[in-house]
Amino acid sequence: MTGGGGGGEHPLTVVLRIRPLMNEEELVGCHTCAHKVDNNMVVLMDPTEDPDDILRANRSREKKYIFDHAFDYKSTTEEVYQVTTRHLIDNVISGYNATVFAYGATGAGKTYTMLGTDTEPGIMYRTLSDLFSAMEKTRSDNTYKVTMSYLEIYNEMIRDLLAPAAGYLELREDAKGVQVAGLSEIMTKSTLEIMELLKEGNKERTQEPTAANKTSSRSHAILMITVKQKNRIRDTKDTVRIGKLFLIDLAGSERASNTHNRGKRMVEGAHINRSLLALGNCINALSDKNGSKYVNYRDSKLTRLLKDSLGGNCKTAMIAHISPASGNFEESRNTLVYADRAKSIKNKVRKNVIDVSYHIAQYTSIISELREEIGRL
Ligand code: ADP
Ligand code: MG
Repeated sequence: MTGGGGGGEHPLTVVLRIRPLMNEEELVGCHTCAHKVDNNMVVLMDPTEDPDDILRANRSREKKYIFDHAFDYKSTTEEVYQVTTRHLIDNVISGYNATVFAYGATGAGKTYTMLGTDTEPGIMYRTLSDLFSAMEKTRSDNTYKVTMSYLEIYNEMIRDLLAPAAGYLELREDAKGVQVAGLSEIMTKSTLEIMELLKEGNKERTQEPTAANKTSSRSHAILMITVKQKNRIRDTKDTVRIGKLFLIDLAGSERASNTHNRGKRMVEGAHINRSLLALGNCINALSDKNGSKYVNYRDSKLTRLLKDSLGGNCKTAMIAHISPASGNFEESRNTLVYADRAKSIKNKVRKNVIDVSYHIAQYTSIISELREEIGRL
């Protein structure tokens, strides 16, 4: 592997998307408690505090949060995509890793952003379609191999969403990095075909009714796109550039206790929180300015899978989602705090160039230096 900087100055982008208030929420008396103030600022009002309470007059009911960008009910998925993901495409094509994840409680709008609908396609579709057009432009000098896999992590177990009958899959680490053994890899250039596969895969996701929502996603859904590239002019026959892009629709971040769950649902909640806690801890350790904090990827399957795409080797975008409804205040506050904590992450971006000839050239020059030395003796 050869190192090298590059890839821009901001390795982590943290944005917040507030979805529209739903009719059902208005019908049960909820009002809007989360507002976008400007393109960077969001305000959350505590609905439990009485604005006329004189004893509380010195305490603000409002809490402000600053992000790289704030989106609200007026924003489109295209705008969210442009700010968080579009710029990662060129990076991935030239051999950098990147991760985009949707965070938030169930019902906050994660799947709407990542998978989308037929009328407003999500980030997964937009990324793949722009990735293919970007590759077309540089086609003459480069050869590409693009593969995609779609998997879920549910209760710390990995399932292939494109081949669910395959059962649970193992995570392995070898010289090539972290691998999911037996995971199917699809090669197709048709974005429409991919969208169909993603929709089918999403139906396979483990979704169970909870008190929090009619269908809650208890699993993390992960689209993994791998681009292998070779430049005909620049690269030697041994050089392969590999860029990996993870697009992740995380499980709902609500606490198990909030959803009045018992038994099986409680166990799930614990597993989901474990992954999200581990993810938060990794991000927090990476954000430590002295670089002295130990980054523990081993705490969950999710962080183990993302090991070479969350640390030194990648760019990351977090799209935190909240509902504006007063009834979801606690969840929204938890999400804002989690996203706020992630903001100061600083990664060193490194390129994945596996260049065997580089090592051979080094040894050849050492051998010739030694020969010269022998000659002088
Ligand atoms: P999550 O995946 O976080 O559980 P969903 O993406 O399923 O949440 O969103 C919950 C509901 O809100 C869905 O009916 C979805 O269509 C709707 N919704 C979410 N975000 C938006 C948005 N930005 N604009 C319009 N509707 C949205
Ligand atoms: Mg969802």
